[in-house]
This record gives sequence, structure tokens and C-alpha cells, in this order.
Amino acid sequence: MTTRGSASLTIDLEDWYHIPSVCGSTFSEFQDVEEFFVRWDGRYDYLTDTTGRVLQILDHYRVPATFFVVADVIDHYPGLVESIVDHGHEIACHGLHHSCVIDSRTKEPLISPDAFRRVTARARRALERISGEKVVGYRAPNALIAGWMIDILDDLGFGYDSSVSVNSFYNKSDSALKGVSSAPYYPEQNELEPTDYRGIVEFPWPYYDIGLKIPTGGGPMLRFLGAHVIMQGLRQSLRRGHTVFYFHCIDIADDEFPNIGNKRPFYWTIKGEVVEKRILRIIRELRDRGVAVKPLREVLEE
Ligand SMILES: [Zn+2]
Repeated sequence: MTTRGSASLTIDLEDWYHIPSVCGSTFSEFQDVEEFFVRWDGRYDYLTDTTGRVLQILDHYRVPATFFVVADVIDHYPGLVESIVDHGHEIACHGLHHSCVIDSRTKEPLISPDAFRRVTARARRALERISGEKVVGYRAPNALIAGWMIDILDDLGFGYDSSVSVNSFYNKSDSALKGVSSAPYYPEQNELEPTDYRGIVEFPWPYYDIGLKIPTGGGPMLRFLGAHVIMQGLRQSLRRGHTVFYFHCIDIADDEFPNIGNKRPFYWTIKGEVVEKRILRIIRELRDRGVAVKPLREVLEE
């Protein structure tokens, strides 16, 4: 499972209120998305237009992608997930409401293993009903991932997870990730360190190793670093094996998001237009370098 020279474009489908400062964390403004929809009466949809634009871009470059979809998007944006399916992209699971499963600071569980199993199975059922296909991929909400979560995903029949990020600045997992690089691997039982073989695969995120490991998976880093450094990291990670690149549809939104929630990410002040240009540059560079870009499900099957 080295698959050197191939990459996957992965896109998280969530809106502005799914982030931990607004919903679903120990410090959020609303306990969860359900409470948000009871109390919020302003505009909430910053997702439909940006997703349409992303689908246009993917069509234009003929890139099939993997969309990690928060399942409650199905309820609040009728037709949106269907449009992604119609364009032929893979639908994978990004949780039911995007609530944190483990605490970002202590890495202790915020819900019981049984509750995690229940909400994840429910999210997957909803996504499978829409996509008409078996959903095999998972990405943890806010990339907060633990070994015991992988065990449950494996149990539920998921084929892969893509949440682990090895870098010198943060670790959102409950493991030291000593043996992990950016290449796909089999995680140990109740652990995130690599083992010889297991039914479930982890597709970790890329990094650029210059003595310090700079995370270059995308997302907020697209705003901090720009396309050049991200591309350096992707090039290096491609030499280690298959790699992923990710962004959120709302990353390219030019509208200003509602001003609520503490610990709002300041990188949101960088315009979506700038981010879109960087995404385009990366897609073009992958194409020009002859990198095969395919959905994670396809890489898993190889
Ligand atoms: Zn997310």
C-alpha cells in the first residue's frame, strides 16, 4: 500500500456554525447544531453557493474528489448532497453534527463509545440513503481522533479514516504518533501507531519536513502558508506515499460570517477569493506534475 505518486482531493462539507467556537465543543456558543437551529434566526447558509462553485471547479479540471459530509447538512440544505452525488464524487462521513468526540485539550472522550457508535452509524445510514452507495470513509469532526474511535469505525465496517496529522505544532489525537508519517498505514488496535495489517486504513495528512514538520494538508494552512509552501509539502509527501489535500467549501466564501462565538479563528479574515486562487494553483500543479488524483475509496480498493 505505498501508492507513490497519487493523491486525493478531500473536501469537508460543513457550514460556519459547525466549528467548535459556535457548536459542539466544551467552549462553544451553542451546545450543538440542534440547539443552534432552535435559537438562531439569522442567515445560516454560507454553504450552498460555495459548494456549487467547488463542483464547477472540479468539473472544469475533471477531478473526482472525496467529500466528507456532516450528515445534518442533508436536513438543512435540501438537494445539496444530492448535487455532489450527481457530479460523481465519493461521499464519506464527517460525523452527524460535527460535535467533538474527544476534548481538544485533554483528549478524553466527550461521549461514550456506545454513543459514538450510535451517532456514527446514524450519520452513515443517512449518507448512504442519499448516495445510494456504501460509505466507507470517515474523518473525525475537527480532526480530533482517538484509537478507540478507529476500533469502532472498523467494527462498523468503515474501510478507512483520514484524520491523523503528524506535525511539529499540534497533535489532535490521543497518541504520540511516533511511527506515523504522511503515508497510508494500518493503525494498531486501540492505538494510532502503525501495525502490520488490519482491516481499516488510515490516510494521514501531508507535512513538509524542514527539520520542523509543517502541516501542509490544507484547510487553515491554505490561509497561513499560501500555495507555494503547501505544494512543497505535498511534493515531499508524495515521495513518502499516497497523500491527501483538503479544504472546506466555505473556505472560498467571500461573505463575512456572523460574528458570534468565542475563539473565532482569525484566519477567517483572509478573503475566500485568495483561498480559491491557491486551491486552483494546487489542482493545476498536481495535474501538470502528472499526479493521479482519485477518491480515497479508489485508493483503498487498489
Ligand atoms: Zn470539519
